[in-house]
Amino acid sequence: MVSVYIGLGSNLQGPEQQLRSALEELAAHPGIELAAVSSFYQSKPVGPQDQPDYVNAVAELRTALPPEALLDVLQATENQHNRVRLRHWGERTLDLDILLYGDQTLNTPRLIVPHKEMCNRSFVLYPLAEIAPQLTLPDGRRLPDVLRTVTNDLLPLR
Ligand code: ATP
Ligand code: MG
Ligand code: MG
Repeated sequence: MVSVYIGLGSNLQGPEQQLRSALEELAAHPGIELAAVSSFYQSKPVGPQDQPDYVNAVAELRTALPPEALLDVLQATENQHNRVRLRHWGERTLDLDILLYGDQTLNTPRLIVPHKEMCNRSFVLYPLAEIAPQLTLPDGRRLPDVLRTVTNDLLPLR
């Protein structure tokens, strides 16, 4: 079993409920245990600004699924939520990204881990720190030190 951190995001069709149902669906998967879930946060979009604000969270999964099999599950879940890709970093019903897969570093055509933008994104780092405050990244950097480099511009969800 490995600890995997995933980032969840949505800004269409009831974002909060999109995240809640995605978490239920993942927890119901026989190969996945849902170990922790952060609070939900509201964030401004990255990329095109003419789209609704996002709701974001981070969850810890425990699984024996290999990385690409887990990505298959996450992408199937996105598809069940009617995700349509309109434009890069555009609006979406559900985004499920693998942030960290244990302490592994992966670089395949389908999967880059740690997620290539995670250390630049407040909506990833702050929820992650909530559930894994003392985490060390595969490159040896400590999460509290990375956190200090990124402004917390998140709003608590209500
Ligand atoms: P970003 O990755 O910058 O957050 P995005 O989440 O909007 O952007 P998607 O359209 O969801 O991007 O995914 C595009 C591709 O990224 C996927 O087809 C997937 O193969 C690839 N990918 C690479 N690394 C990862 C990862 N760590 N988690 C999820 N998908 C990844
Ligand atoms: Mg993403
Ligand atoms: Mg994605």
